[in-house]
Amino acid sequence: MSDPSEMTSQALAAIGQAQSNTELERIELEYLGRKSGKVSAMLSNIGRLAPAEKAALGKAANEAKRAIEGALVARRAELEQARLADLAETEAVDITFPGPPLDRGHVHVLTQVRRQIETVLESLGYQVELGPEVETEWYNFEALNLTAGHPARESWDSFYFSPELLLRAHTSPVQIRAMQRLKEPPIYIITPGRVYRRDPAEATRLPYFSQVEGLAVDKGLTVGDMKGTLLYMIQSLYGRERKVRVRPSYFPFTEPSFEFDVSCGICGGIGCKSCRHKGWLEVGGCGMVHPQVLRNGGIDPTRWNGYAWGFGIERMAMLKHDVDDIRLFYEPDLRFIEQF
Ligand SMILES: [Zn+2]
Repeated sequence: MSDPSEMTSQALAAIGQAQSNTELERIELEYLGRKSGKVSAMLSNIGRLAPAEKAALGKAANEAKRAIEGALVARRAELEQARLADLAETEAVDITFPGPPLDRGHVHVLTQVRRQIETVLESLGYQVELGPEVETEWYNFEALNLTAGHPARESWDSFYFSPELLLRAHTSPVQIRAMQRLKEPPIYIITPGRVYRRDPAEATRLPYFSQVEGLAVDKGLTVGDMKGTLLYMIQSLYGRERKVRVRPSYFPFTEPSFEFDVSCGICGGIGCKSCRHKGWLEVGGCGMVHPQVLRNGGIDPTRWNGYAWGFGIERMAMLKHDVDDIRLFYEPDLRFIEQF
């Protein structure tokens, strides 16, 4: 039987030198283990001792046990303290600290304006129609009364994959496709989407942009119906004080055809630098659908008539937000994009 005080000092020395919790667990088991621990072993022969010796040994064993337990607790605290100090040095970044909130972003200004236009016209009963951006020559030109060799084709020149296949120059092909699909008027649709033109990238035009066109086919429609619809749309988007006007123009797919203007929002129509002292800003073209275009869409022009209009979404966004360079809409410059 070993001497209790000598055993205790051995245990305390071992604990003091331990470098990990695993080591401490091993030492705890060695000395304090319920069955084979050294403190238990010390008491294994206690039954054979005289009462006075029994009491002395019991007391010594208890003291040894308490001393070892206390040393274990203290050493564990020391090791934990050292681990945290170590971590503070190697981990300059506190990975448990909550990070800054992420910016959520928002839809692009062109998408905002397109959705506003859709919302206004849907409230009038129009439906959104979409179509392919790669179109056939027939849908892009022929069906819209731009027959082969027609000089006006120049204005809608696009990019060709083959003589018959091209990037659409306007969303008008969707009007033809919609008439063919829906067959029976009344038809009230709008056709938003990307279009392509063989134009250089400048402050006022790009080789690609977004359009929204409208088509109404019904019985006895008039220029007044068209103008009223567009006035409602413009005032919904830009404010009740805006006025609209139409000027005679020419498009192969409408007869009569008009340019469509909105009164300048900055000077109210008096004339200023922004509207080049005209008081009016050009938005797009419109007119009564040419009978041949209705025929190409499978609609009988002796029974039905219609009006159509086509605006550039970038142009509408420029007028709404006083943007003077169309290229800004397609540049990844957050200083611009985050303003809307
Ligand atoms: Zn003005």
